[in-house]
Amino acid sequence: MTADIFRFADDLGPAKIVHIYKPSVNLKAIVVVDNVAAGPAIGGTRMAPDVSVEECFRLARAMTFKNAAAGLAHGGGKSVISADPAMLADQKEETIRAFASAIVDITDYIAGPDMGTDESAMAWIQDEIGRSVGLPRELGGIPLDEIGATGFGLAVAAEVAQDFCDLKLDGARIVVQGFGSVGKHAARFLAEKGAVLVGASDSKGATVNQEGMEVADLIAFKDSGKPIAGYPNGKKLKRDDIVGVPCDIWILAARPDVIHADNVDGLDCKIVLQGANIPVTLEAEAALHKRGVLCVPDFIANAGGVICAAVEYHGGAQSSAFAIIEEKLRTNTREVLQAAKDEGLKPREAAIKLADTRVRSAMKLRRWG
Ligand code: NAD
Repeated sequence: MTADIFRFADDLGPAKIVHIYKPSVNLKAIVVVDNVAAGPAIGGTRMAPDVSVEECFRLARAMTFKNAAAGLAHGGGKSVISADPAMLADQKEETIRAFASAIVDITDYIAGPDMGTDESAMAWIQDEIGRSVGLPRELGGIPLDEIGATGFGLAVAAEVAQDFCDLKLDGARIVVQGFGSVGKHAARFLAEKGAVLVGASDSKGATVNQEGMEVADLIAFKDSGKPIAGYPNGKKLKRDDIVGVPCDIWILAARPDVIHADNVDGLDCKIVLQGANIPVTLEAEAALHKRGVLCVPDFIANAGGVICAAVEYHGGAQSSAFAIIEEKLRTNTREVLQAAKDEGLKPREAAIKLADTRVRSAMKLRRWG
């Protein structure tokens, strides 16, 4: 049988691709459960108008690798709902609740927040089927964006990465592309380690000051709803001109594929720290590697959020989430960067090798692989 639906299949997965269609509530969704050898799959529920099976599969596979590299008792999966996330609140709740009831029997998939969904959406799913992560504090959740779980992990990864290039975090100049939940907390935790923020951007523009900017002040400015380019203690730049700002650590915390063949030569830094998912094309990553710029791959560096979600799922507290993120990010980043150095690989190649080995080891321990 070589039906088209098996076009993504390899020996890791996907275990299931489920299409959901409920015309009465205009619900169109896809769930991909990629690999569950280590345990039930955790992965976000994305709501966007332009989602596809292929994107859902790619994101699910990324979660398989991320969860395996982080040593979680969870496989990888993802779901996408084809809809405009800016729809009216009542309609959004109805859509999410309908989605939840449709996935009740997909017991090896645990939904989490992603683009277009948040902790309220996870609360509705929990209410319908008793299975989700990234819940509000009132329901026993650990609000991972509010506490900065992913940004905290990025700062730990940077601390390890400094040993693999000629850099000291204390005094290192950092630039953050995408000063949102991930980016601003990364800047905050790195500033606590002595780093100096010299540039930041959001979707509308950028601000730069080579003398350094007060991170708490810039966060307060951004949280007041103003575009970052208007920050009074920095020089205003066009959004994409942030790429040319010289620094030691360039942090990506915005969107996929923002560094590509056409702009990679503009980056002037020693470390590229990948907070967003797939933010650098493979071609651009190869060019950076050739120039001796150290890229810490996304699914190693940005695992803080999913580690926090897994701690919540297993009933852990916020304090233990931070301790576990610190321990896992420190160990995994060092293992990947050391293997890359010893074996002459790009960090991403070493990271995939590590994750792939862990998935296959888990598969050997299961009856059906
Ligand atoms: P967010 O919406 O809170 O912040 C994103 C920020 O990026 C916003 O300030 C937005 O204005 C800005 N932005 C958007 N497009 C931009 C562009 N082209 N140039 C510069 N800035 C731009 O989102 P987030 O939760 O911080 O997530 C950021 C990225 O990290 C996403 O790709 C997400 O998938 C990924 N990620 C998030 C987490 C998490 O814990 N939240 C974990 C892993 C990966």
